[in-house]
Amino acid sequence: MRCVRRLWGFTLTLIHVSAVLLVWTGAPRAGEACAAAEEQRGTSADALLLCRTCGHELATGADIRSVPSRLALSSRNHTLPGGRRVNVQLFENPHGLRFEVFTFRKADVDQHWPADKHFTWFPGFSWTAATCPRCRTHLGWAFQPSVWPNTITKSQFEESDQTFVALITHRLLSEDFASSLLMTPKSFTS
Ligand SMILES: [Zn+2]
Repeated sequence: MRCVRRLWGFTLTLIHVSAVLLVWTGAPRAGEACAAAEEQRGTSADALLLCRTCGHELATGADIRSVPSRLALSSRNHTLPGGRRVNVQLFENPHGLRFEVFTFRKADVDQHWPADKHFTWFPGFSWTAATCPRCRTHLGWAFQPSVWPNTITKSQFEESDQTFVALITHRLLSEDFASSLLMTPKSFTS
């Protein structure tokens, strides 16, 4: 019965996450990003941040690292419980699409080399797309010094303190919020 119950919880989580995504798809972009950032309030330094699509563990609150860019359209500080300040920046790509991102010292994402030096949001750094290693959802971008070769190894990226990852706020889910979605059908509790 425990297995059935866990399966139900997981299924309901997926349904609820899908519902949240559907609601957000119809929301204005700025509001969408704000809603997601508000949700991150439940994040402490050690809390896990998950892929919103599949629940894969991407990083912890402690992995967040502020990398300010003069190219950000706006920048604001977000205070996490316990007083930890997190920088959220808004960027626009050449297609006019806007993204609010958190920057991380590291995250468990797949990079897609070769890196591109053009249209970078962080001068001095080239970028690759960053996707979820489990479900392949596009989660953001990985940045490396633009003086580096365009193609490097994953270990070179991960071992350097000059690299970082910018993840789109509304494509993340805090573990606390995910847990709050888990519920047991009443028929199992009687
Ligand atoms: Zn995923």
